[in-house]
Amino acid sequence: MKLIFDKSVPDRRGVTTTRSDVATTVNIKKEFLRNKPAQLAELSELDVVRHFTELSRRNFGVDTNFYPLGSCTMKYNPKVTERIAAYPGFAHLHPLLPQLRGGGMLTQGALSVLYEMDMLLREITGMAGFTMQPMAGAHGELTGIMIMAAYHRDKGNKKTTVLIPDSAHGTNPASAAIAGYKVVSVPSTDKGVMDVTALKKLLNDEVAGLMLTCPNTLGLFDPNIKQICDLIHSVDGLAYYDGANLNAIVGKARPGDFGFDIVHINLHKTFATPHGGGGPGAGPVGVTKKLVDYLPVSIVTKRDDGTYALEYDRPKSIGYIAPFYGNFAVILKAYVYILMLGRAGLVRVAENAVLNANYVRVKLQKHFEQAVKAICMHECVLTPSKGMLDSGVHALDVAKALIDRGFHPPTVYFPTTVHDAIMIEPTETESKETLDSFIDAMIDIAEVAKKDPEKIKASPLTTPVCRPDDTAAAKNLDLACL
Ligand SMILES: *Cc1c(COP(=O)(O)O)cnc(C)c1O
Repeated sequence: MKLIFDKSVPDRRGVTTTRSDVATTVNIKKEFLRNKPAQLAELSELDVVRHFTELSRRNFGVDTNFYPLGSCTMKYNPKVTERIAAYPGFAHLHPLLPQLRGGGMLTQGALSVLYEMDMLLREITGMAGFTMQPMAGAHGELTGIMIMAAYHRDKGNKKTTVLIPDSAHGTNPASAAIAGYKVVSVPSTDKGVMDVTALKKLLNDEVAGLMLTCPNTLGLFDPNIKQICDLIHSVDGLAYYDGANLNAIVGKARPGDFGFDIVHINLHKTFATPHGGGGPGAGPVGVTKKLVDYLPVSIVTKRDDGTYALEYDRPKSIGYIAPFYGNFAVILKAYVYILMLGRAGLVRVAENAVLNANYVRVKLQKHFEQAVKAICMHECVLTPSKGMLDSGVHALDVAKALIDRGFHPPTVYFPTTVHDAIMIEPTETESKETLDSFIDAMIDIAEVAKKDPEKIKASPLTTPVCRPDDTAAAKNLDLACL
């Protein structure tokens, strides 16, 4: 595929305008002015339209094909949620419209969505109150840890440390560090879950809390979760649940019932709007009763007359963590999604997410190694077989070979606790036929790797852009590799 500059023909024009008869005054210093015209491609309108249409047809997304990107939940999200989020009554609202008087009736609908979403998420997670403001999962983590810090400050606790298992999502230690805590890593056992004996040794009065990604990045549910929460509480620490991947347990189990004090969930993974593309997202944070006062301002409350209002008078609040009310359209889409699926539908989300991941895992177990030989939750972590590794075929090569076979690669080299990890999250929305074709592609890669490993190492071979030569890319800045 040619770059647009290669298609340029001198003096070809798309649009011509008449010269302005108004004198131009230029207030820019001479040294900042161009001394030669900008080097733009010269093309007709049709050339440009064809060029960009061609490019857009090369886009890959959940709407075009299977996208098993571990940890990111790239599932199909029904178009009706987008449709409703675009209703003018929602989409054209200005965040500064008054709550009740004057334009008030215009905002009551949006406030009711925020209020009812709070109620739904309380029921789903077992928490006592939510903030909808955080605009990403990691932003929710930071909010949650700031609430943790506010709680300890208020109680006069001198706490310095947050414990985080080595199988946590990478954003966990980053969030705790940004909130000013020292991060101490808790090792995992060879079963891939937290080593409780090691945790006990790390417990002391300095511990502000623990952040647990659950299921962890190996796709495993920690069977000691209740005991872990009790241990943290024994030193007056708070237990934080990273529920970014709630699609693994939604409708089946609730973090609040395990004993967690703070939870964030990623609406843009579990409840419509796939993760990826840099957002927008929404990472609401839920807390237990003793922490509700610390939630950010504002909070939507319901008056006795049934109308909704924004409450700002919250003296213990950690304050604003985002402008206005968060990514409202993402919250609205998630709200529609939850109402549409209902209780029974949400239970099926979790069941199908777990079933699909285990189906892939079991079908591939003869051809790839499992990082931990156990039943997984919503994703499974594999590694290339010993034979593949011996012939120099690594996770990256498998990922590139999948591109040739029409699939988006899984997440590779993560979690970092597993060498050559291939982290597959099929998600709950894929059919058996799609999973089977992916499984066939993975088996084909394993077979070709046995006979002709160089072919896999040279992949992708069918894409417009090939695999860049890593050294040349760094030395000669040749990244295009056309
Ligand atoms: C995706 C994810 C996050 C971060 O969410 P962002 O919206 O990307 O900030 C945190 N924890 C886990 C377990 C995740 O999967």
